[in-house]
Amino acid sequence: MNQVVLKDVSKAFFTKAFGSVTAVNKINLNIKEGECFSFLGPSGCGKTTTLRLIAGFEDLTDGEIWIGNKPMSIRNKNFYLPPENRGLGMVFQAFAVWPHLNVFENVAFPLRILKMNKNDILEKTNEALKHTNLFGLGEKFPSELSGGQQQRIALARAIVTHPKVLLLDEPLSNLDPKLREIMRFEIKDLQRKFNFTIIYVTHDQTEAMALSDRILVMDMGNIQQIDTPVNMYKSPANKFVYGFLGRSNFVKVEISNRKVYPYGTRGKEIKCNIPADFNEETAILATRPNAIKFTKDGFKTEVKKRIFLTDSIEYRVDIGGQEIRINTITDPGYKEGDTCEVTLNNIKWYSTKGDISDKEREARKVI
Ligand code: ADP
Ligand code: MG
Repeated sequence: MNQVVLKDVSKAFFTKAFGSVTAVNKINLNIKEGECFSFLGPSGCGKTTTLRLIAGFEDLTDGEIWIGNKPMSIRNKNFYLPPENRGLGMVFQAFAVWPHLNVFENVAFPLRILKMNKNDILEKTNEALKHTNLFGLGEKFPSELSGGQQQRIALARAIVTHPKVLLLDEPLSNLDPKLREIMRFEIKDLQRKFNFTIIYVTHDQTEAMALSDRILVMDMGNIQQIDTPVNMYKSPANKFVYGFLGRSNFVKVEISNRKVYPYGTRGKEIKCNIPADFNEETAILATRPNAIKFTKDGFKTEVKKRIFLTDSIEYRVDIGGQEIRINTITDPGYKEGDTCEVTLNNIKWYSTKGDISDKEREARKVI
């Protein structure tokens, strides 16, 4: 069953400084019950805004949002349900714990808003504390706890009302990498116990990959692809998605008489098969660092850098003025300055037309 449905949802902001910004552009989504669904994309792409629209902290400029077959926001009927009536659990990046309340009161807060009786508050709050490994710390104040424990308070508060849908906006971004990994598992465990539908916002692709059943990659307010982590990695819909998931190399090339040369050069050819339906004169070749091999009949170049990465070796080589990275588990033993030949495998071909510049993305960045 679809739990969260977005139909043609758009949100524009108007500011004196920047005029109109389309933060979210005609988004259509069906998130299933019990699914862990991530929004992934660079800063400013519209993740938080989409989540705030679902939560009801923002009203839409256009479209409809439904949760569990009930309308939440419908623009053309001027219908809008406030956040407290949407029955959602939330952890927002800037939604810190309250320093003047102890742990118990922080977690119990949503129940007090619902005017629940004392015994139920005690029972439900203690249950949430147990599930987030905070039991016994109820009397402490947030400042007495570690960063991980403080984040657990926010999680406990989000689950205390047993919501069906949990909205998490970069909940782990303030934690160190080790703790982040531990907390990921804890969130997954909580989901198994309660069968929440989770919408998880992150700019961290590893986090999205590890947690999600499906991922939505966004750029400049637009959906780029919705897919499982594996499909997204193996079959990225476009160059942006390719570059956003996993490590990548992009080589700009020109094609002449069905031969491929590094852009701006007509010397050495990059031997590779051009897809039959690809007829442009310039292209971007995308390959993963682990798909480039040292061979005897490849593109002749030299090793610019060799970096020891403990479980693999990274080589940097130059292809017509463009540096690419090669990652290899078995070390061919080249030193910096050695000549070598490389072959690009598993190439994806992208057009050079219509690329959004990093400058345009930068302009949307949220501080
Ligand atoms: P993300 O969470 O993906 O980093 P946001 O959804 O926060 O991105 O922001 C998307 C775009 O909308 C950005 O360009 C941001 O500057 C703009 N934006 C977000 N909130 C507001 C607001 N309240 N007023 C004006 N512009 C906003
Ligand atoms: Mg954000």
